[in-house]
Amino acid sequence: MRIFNKIADLRAYLHECRAKNQKIGFVPTMGALHEGHLALVQCAKNEVEIAVCSIYVNPTQFNNPTDLEKYPRTLENDIKLLETVFCDVLFVPENAEMYPEKNILKFDFGTLETVMEGRFRPGHFNGMATVVCKLFNIVQPNKAYFGQKDLQQYMVVRQFIADLSFPIELVCYPIVREKDGLAMSSRNKRLTPAQREIAPKLYEALILAQNLLQNKDKNQQKNIQEIKEEVLVFLGNIEGIKVEYFEIVAQNTLISLDNLAEKTSIALCIAAFLGEIRLIDNLLL
Ligand code: AMP
Repeated sequence: MRIFNKIADLRAYLHECRAKNQKIGFVPTMGALHEGHLALVQCAKNEVEIAVCSIYVNPTQFNNPTDLEKYPRTLENDIKLLETVFCDVLFVPENAEMYPEKNILKFDFGTLETVMEGRFRPGHFNGMATVVCKLFNIVQPNKAYFGQKDLQQYMVVRQFIADLSFPIELVCYPIVREKDGLAMSSRNKRLTPAQREIAPKLYEALILAQNLLQNKDKNQQKNIQEIKEEVLVFLGNIEGIKVEYFEIVAQNTLISLDNLAEKTSIALCIAAFLGEIRLIDNLLL
């Protein structure tokens, strides 16, 4: 695997690849890699000649300074893991390389950035979109791979790829989970053993909501408000979990559904704190 820290060096190398007609697949990450990230890289390896991964903990997308400071950084191990899946190129820039000047660009993604993550993490999507646009311009991939785990992020990326006419095919990869259902996340590394034990309850809550929504027995059917309440009661009974939001939304807009009569694909989305660690998960129905 070739490792680059400088934009110019990476560009020069990828220029050669393109000259040889090699297609480039790109997996942007913040490191502390796990099987979810590796699945994205493997997917790229299966579809294109050159798989490029980036590891960059982007300060502008963190609204919580403690979260940024404590975000796990495990570069040596990440490199070993990327080699196990035959990643071709790793880009690991410093802050000065990515932000030589103070960044003032502002995006407006409308309701896509005012609901759920956008509501509780002001500025997050602006920072994410800025860095992903920069990375897209640096790597110029044919395909970019994002996880459904960060559903709203995927939707925002999809939006700016269309709005800014990036010639990039976007792939949404399903959520890779631990055996007990917990969605893999770099932040899981920060959970205490006791927190790790209760963390799968978030996924159980999503399954509970799914079962309630799909109940075919007319006498037992509940409306959206009742289902939301039942999920919150279920999680409210578990000491150590503090739900930030649980939403039943339309998959194509991420806007909250008021009733089940609306004929649309549904996404169940949850964010919760276990101590100071914030986890998210979702289920597409
Ligand atoms: P991150 O390093 O958390 O920014 O994630 C980098 C990419 O990996 C994003 O596109 C995430 O959605 C994706 N990702 C993170 N966790 C998972 C997972 N459990 N399964 C699949 N993809 C994931």
